[in-house]
Amino acid sequence: YLQSMPKAETIKLREKHVGAACQLFFRSSPLKIVRGIAQYMYDETGERYLDCINNVAHVGHCHPHVVEAGRNQMSLISTNNRYLHDELVILAERLVKTMPEPLSVCFFVNSGSEANDLALRLARIHTNREDVITLDHAYHGHLTSMIAVSPYKFNLPGGPAQPDWVHVAPVPDVYRGKFTCPRDSSSEETLGLMYAGEVEKICEDAKQRRGGVCAFIAESLQSCGGQVIPPEGYMKKVYENVRNAGGVCIADEVQVGFGRVGTHMWAFETQGVVPDIVTMGKPMGNGHPVAAVICTQEIAKSFADTGVEYFNTYGGNPVSCAIANAVLDVIETENLQEKALRVGSYLLERCESLKHKHSLVGDVRGRGLFVGVELVTNRDERTPATAEAKHVVNRMREEKILISRDGPDANVLKFKPPLVFTTHDADRLVDTLDRVLGELDGGRMPSGSIKLEVTVTPISDNMEKSNETAVKTSIKQSIKSM
Ligand code: PMP
Repeated sequence: YLQSMPKAETIKLREKHVGAACQLFFRSSPLKIVRGIAQYMYDETGERYLDCINNVAHVGHCHPHVVEAGRNQMSLISTNNRYLHDELVILAERLVKTMPEPLSVCFFVNSGSEANDLALRLARIHTNREDVITLDHAYHGHLTSMIAVSPYKFNLPGGPAQPDWVHVAPVPDVYRGKFTCPRDSSSEETLGLMYAGEVEKICEDAKQRRGGVCAFIAESLQSCGGQVIPPEGYMKKVYENVRNAGGVCIADEVQVGFGRVGTHMWAFETQGVVPDIVTMGKPMGNGHPVAAVICTQEIAKSFADTGVEYFNTYGGNPVSCAIANAVLDVIETENLQEKALRVGSYLLERCESLKHKHSLVGDVRGRGLFVGVELVTNRDERTPATAEAKHVVNRMREEKILISRDGPDANVLKFKPPLVFTTHDADRLVDTLDRVLGELDGGRMPSGSIKLEVTVTPISDNMEKSNETAVKTSIKQSIKSM
């Protein structure tokens, strides 16, 4: 293996020289990953982990076609986009072909945060307004402008204050959000209208007090907030309200784009809407930093009409564009969107079956290879099972399967693997999860609801022992059927 420095030494150097705010997964016993192949990652000892969370390694870790494209272009030229280059224009044309009319103008940047920052700048210039509507628990990037529209960050105890130009609408979470009821066709549309009504209220208020809104920014399926699928009709109604208030609609596809949802290339398409600005990143370079903004001709013209040049040293460099083109090649030649649909549906179905076995599983939702399993200690009350979710993530790591958890209560297990994930991988993931959940609830489904009180000592402190007994003894369960 490539890295020869002992792990303890790596940790020591990192602690000495890297900002403590940069946090590691499994903090008290972090992983040292030195290699990746397809849906697998390897640590320094050669241990193999099934990667169920890396939505950046979209077409599989270190895909040879992508690696070769980067290597070839790096050996030819990497320079800024003030020179003509075929990789850039070909990439722009290919991306635009995946978009509905009238989205036809590209800007290339280096990260999702930069893409969203530029989207906001475009929106401001085009509408000449300031107010932005964002969803609760949303995350749109680490730049100052993006933290401002990311309640996921600014709502933290030490987070910055919410600016007065930012308005937070409730996340349309029909399971544990402001308005809830069982997800079925009769209630979907009503809930969609109720949640959209909240955005309408913000728009009306902004129209009266501040002359309208500048933009609505949202993921069409919210990832950081806990794998939330909005109810039928919600996005359409919101887009209508925002446009009536003079604003533009920004779809953040940084996590959910490039075929992950299976039925479509872009998550906004699942909601039947056409945004004014789309941002993309992460999977676009399969691990190489490349991102983009695609907007309408009108918005691009407003930007150009300012007379201020847009220059980005690395945005659209030939290496990044060659890599992004290679990622598109692989999505097409390996039918990865179709695969996301097939394997994702299978994974979702298998996760659904866990609901009938484990009372901890409150809700299962997803589209393609974007799946969330929400754990609750009481199904009637939908009480978040935060400690249990933490335990599950740690136990899965012991089983060499990497998953993570999210949502405002960190109780939603999330799966967003590279699209080369197979049904065999889905079986391994769900069979292991089934076993781990069984350790928590004894695999028992109570007749009524269940109260599971779990005291988890910091499991990660036990990681060095790394055996099932150590973990099990750290849990005190009391299961009371009610
Ligand atoms: N938008 C969303 C939805 C994201 O999840 C992220 C990153 N987690 C970003 C934007 C920011 O992307 P980056 O980290 O590449 O700047």
